[in-house]
Amino acid sequence: MPELPEVETVRRGLSPVMEGAVIARADVNRPDLRWPFPARMAERLTGARIRQLRRRSKYILADLDTGETLLIHLGMSGRMLISGDSTDTEMAAKMPGRFVHAHPAPEKHDHVVFHMDNGTRITFNDPRRFGAMDLMETATAESHKLLAVLGPEPLGNDFHEEHLAGAFHKRMMPVKSALLDQKIVSGLGNIYVCEALFRAGISPSRRAGRISAQRVAALVPIIRQVLSEAIDAGGSSLRDFRQADGELGYFQHTFDVYGREGAPCRTNGCRGVIRRIVQSGRSSFYCAQCQR
Ligand SMILES: [Zn+2]
Repeated sequence: MPELPEVETVRRGLSPVMEGAVIARADVNRPDLRWPFPARMAERLTGARIRQLRRRSKYILADLDTGETLLIHLGMSGRMLISGDSTDTEMAAKMPGRFVHAHPAPEKHDHVVFHMDNGTRITFNDPRRFGAMDLMETATAESHKLLAVLGPEPLGNDFHEEHLAGAFHKRMMPVKSALLDQKIVSGLGNIYVCEALFRAGISPSRRAGRISAQRVAALVPIIRQVLSEAIDAGGSSLRDFRQADGELGYFQHTFDVYGREGAPCRTNGCRGVIRRIVQSGRSSFYCAQCQR
């Protein structure tokens, strides 16, 4: 499941081919994904120029020159594929890695296809159909039902020590659950919460309201660092994009605890072993020696 760094990587991969370009044609091959598509979606997108691609939490937002914004959510299994030949267009200079990916034969789960006026094609493929697309007025985009409920961006200025301390105050839920609460901080998912708590030395089971102010303060830059490193790893994957099959956003990244149950802790001098517990139906990976 893509988390914030993966979504940001997809956004960065798409921006050179989509920003400034016009959607010459949009194929919408079914009426819905997780929710119905907006009315006349293909018609409303056709001829629209993409002014900019933004990200809010795990949503990609494409602001169009029609005054509308296209919201894209990858869901559990959504993939964005770019095809076309960047070497014979002006975009070659802008691409992080040159690519020549022949337009693929249509596949069963290609639900939406954007044919850009620069010759590239963006295909949204989503076998499990938990993804979503919607159109809204750009001016009131922040009040969209999916966006209005979101807390601050973990890499933004509104996520700071005072905010996190206030959100944790007297909360008896485990810190793991508090950090997954999208109203407290948006876009953090299971993987990066496990990694951040490991670096902060905080047990995932510790109650949020029982963490000292000093440790809460330290958690903020650690969360930013964990996410930034993953985004950097995603950036490297974009530079290697020529090797890929045109798919964006899923990259190799090594984790300290996530997915390492039974493996030795990587902290110098620690003899602990990474454990896995299940909290609210999600696996938490941690070192009981390092994390208290
Ligand atoms: Zn350890």
